[in-house]
Amino acid sequence: MTTLDTSRAYDVEAVRADFPILRQMHHENVPLVYLDNAATSQKPNCVIEAMDRYYREYNANVHRGIHKLSEEATTEYEAARLKVRKFINAGSKREILFTRGTTESINLVAQTWGRANLKAGDVVVSSVMEHHSNIVPWQILAAEKGFTVRYVPVLPDGTLDLDHLYNLLAKEPIKLVTLMQVSNVLGVVNPVEEVIKKAHEAGALVLIDGAQSVPHMTVDVQAMDVDFFAFSGHKMLGPTGSGVLYGKRALLEAMPPWMGGGDMISSVKLSGSTWNDLPYKFEAGTPAIAEAIGLGYAVDYLNQVGLDNIHAHERDIISYALERLKEVPGLTVYGPTGENKGAVAAFMVQGIHAHDVAQLLDSEGIAVRAGHHCAMPLHEHLGVSATARASFYLYNTHAEVDALIAALHKARKTFKL
Ligand code: PLP
Repeated sequence: MTTLDTSRAYDVEAVRADFPILRQMHHENVPLVYLDNAATSQKPNCVIEAMDRYYREYNANVHRGIHKLSEEATTEYEAARLKVRKFINAGSKREILFTRGTTESINLVAQTWGRANLKAGDVVVSSVMEHHSNIVPWQILAAEKGFTVRYVPVLPDGTLDLDHLYNLLAKEPIKLVTLMQVSNVLGVVNPVEEVIKKAHEAGALVLIDGAQSVPHMTVDVQAMDVDFFAFSGHKMLGPTGSGVLYGKRALLEAMPPWMGGGDMISSVKLSGSTWNDLPYKFEAGTPAIAEAIGLGYAVDYLNQVGLDNIHAHERDIISYALERLKEVPGLTVYGPTGENKGAVAAFMVQGIHAHDVAQLLDSEGIAVRAGHHCAMPLHEHLGVSATARASFYLYNTHAEVDALIAALHKARKTFKL
């Protein structure tokens, strides 16, 4: 599957060799430096080939056909579910729902559990640092149901104001705490285990947005004791259109379905219908089959390289990047800088708009993102309308960080700073 010799120290060049896009020139003669991994990750050969194989050799619908192709597709699709179950240590494959991504997973919880359980007088707690996908679904439902959404503030060092959260838990009728594990802007790693424990003591359920954690660190949903856990396949080397909602079985069993249609029913009569078992109750219609299979192969690849190795490599790269970014005059990095920071550096260069930074970096072959990164309330809190963001992954190198720093110096010169 990979040329990687896993018995050796982390071999970033061998990892890079598994990603065909990284061999490409970005512009005519500038090599691609891909530093936009928080938006989406690149895909290794094994994922691309697995999806190609599905379409070339056994393309068929799942769970329905009696023919060989359909059986093969079903076997691979369900094998992917088992791989994901093991990857996050869920207790049962019935607790792994395939979705299109983190956004759909969170909306699923809001529209099923939320719709059935939240009413006027209840409180849902989110935070100022959340991605829009963990703010807007709750606002939409709150407008209909009349419950309140409160937001935990962010402290000046870029960490969550936990005292504020624990005060809320002590005083208010909180039904759900819904937080990100790792921020896609600040990079901060939130202490979700502690939060889950305190929330449970106060009688609240917890949803964790793992979009920026699952690709980068070991996640054990049972050890965490989390109630719902959402993540996206495309940020962890898998295809777009693949994602997961983990939910504790008892909660999922009690939740009504969301979308109705094929596969999610046990029987349909004109007088009414009954629902299929988990996880199919929440997977109406033809699912993203190739995408789920691709995600399974991404999990295989991450396991083969080893999440602990990936995490250590990223810590090395982000520490190096944070040190070197200090050399650029007028550059501010947002969020913490210690061990509690993932491989994300959102920054601003005084005198250059973030979009101009990104455009100038692009002309040097360096792909970063600029904007509010779907975190407008956080940017309002930071007092900036936009930041540039370099985000790293298992295939990034010190040389790429050097290229980023050189390009930032060049950008300042272009702006005569
Ligand atoms: N949550 C976080 C922390 C994210 O970074 C993202 C994507 O950037 C999302 C949620 C939404 O993920 P998706 O667009 O894959 O649904």
